[in-house]
Amino acid sequence: MKPLRKFLAGFRWEDVTPRLYKDDGASFRDVTRQVLFDGDGAPGCQVRYFEVGPGGFTTLERHEHTHAVMVLRGRGRALVGDEVQDLEPFDLLTVPPRTWHQLRAGTEEPLGFLCVVDCERDRPEPATPSDVATLSANPRVRTFLSS
Ligand code: MN
Repeated sequence: MKPLRKFLAGFRWEDVTPRLYKDDGASFRDVTRQVLFDGDGAPGCQVRYFEVGPGGFTTLERHEHTHAVMVLRGRGRALVGDEVQDLEPFDLLTVPPRTWHQLRAGTEEPLGFLCVVDCERDRPEPATPSDVATLSANPRVRTFLSS
């Protein structure tokens, strides 16, 4: 692997092809994924860049592994547990284990962020309609999910 992967116009990186965020049928809107670093065969972390289009959102999900998320572009909001956080460039968001989370872009511009995860991690559990109903008992969460 080359030691340097140059940053390109349009929030792309050299030799990285943007992919669909998920291909397992989970619910999301307008999200792409670029894997910038994949551990290169050694145990360790993976660094991904996700971009959510205006009005888009990631899957509402939870899992054992943690996320370290750094916003690089745009503004949006994140649900982590039952708290809603405003996001702007260079904020760092941490998602603890087993915690429901979702990121939503604002309406004006894409929300782009790096997300670092362990290469060895469990599969996300998407929220079921029953989970959404339970979470929506909290007015803050209900407002976030319906925005
Ligand atoms: Mn996740």
